[in-house]
Formats: sequence, structure tokens, C-alpha cells
Amino acid sequence: MEQRARGVGKCAADHLGSFGYPTRPAECYGFCSQCGGSMVWDCPSCHATLPDDPDELKLAHFCRECGSPYFEAAERAAEPCEEPALRIISGRAGPAEAADRAG
Ligand SMILES: [Zn+2]
Ligand SMILES: [Zn+2]
Repeated sequence: MEQRARGVGKCAADHLGSFGYPTRPAECYGFCSQCGGSMVWDCPSCHATLPDDPDELKLAHFCRECGSPYFEAAERAAEPCEEPALRIISGRAGPAEAADRAG
């Protein structure tokens, strides 16, 4: 069971946020403290995390894993991050579908 203890996020106006770090809120929050926009903590489509690197995070508007825009869905339904029951870390290891041909 792996629960995300901390993470980074941003709003549509490129204000960065984080939670779980020593001086930060313990949990992710729904709205940006600087502009009131909805915060995004992971990809609305595939739930990949946002870039940890602040420079990259500030510029990121699309998911690196699936290419979905971070903020399109967030504007329709602002949902503070509900921890997905199952976080499937995929795409890295790659399914080794070795065609085992006996014959
Ligand atoms: Zn903001
Ligand atoms: Zn994605």
C-alpha cells in the first residue's frame, strides 16, 4: 500500500504548490492561495504525477505520460485530489510479453 505522502501541484496560472513537505500543508488542497484557481496534483486523465522539478513544473501544462492537458478537466469539475485506490505505475517497466513459442 503506497500512499502519496507528499507531492507537487499547480494552478492554471502557473502558481506552484506542494504538500507534505515540512512547511507545507499535510494534504493537497483544492484551490490556489494566490489566484483561487483549481489546483491540479496529478494528471486528470492518467493520474501521473506532475514534474517534481520546479522549473519544469512551472512550465508544464500537459501530462508527460499521456499528453492530456492538466487544466481542461479541472475547470469543469474541480475535485481536490482523491487518492486513487490503486496507483498503477506503468509505462516504465513495460509489459514483457515474450511470445513463448514452443515448437
Ligand atoms: Zn494560482
Ligand atoms: Zn496523463
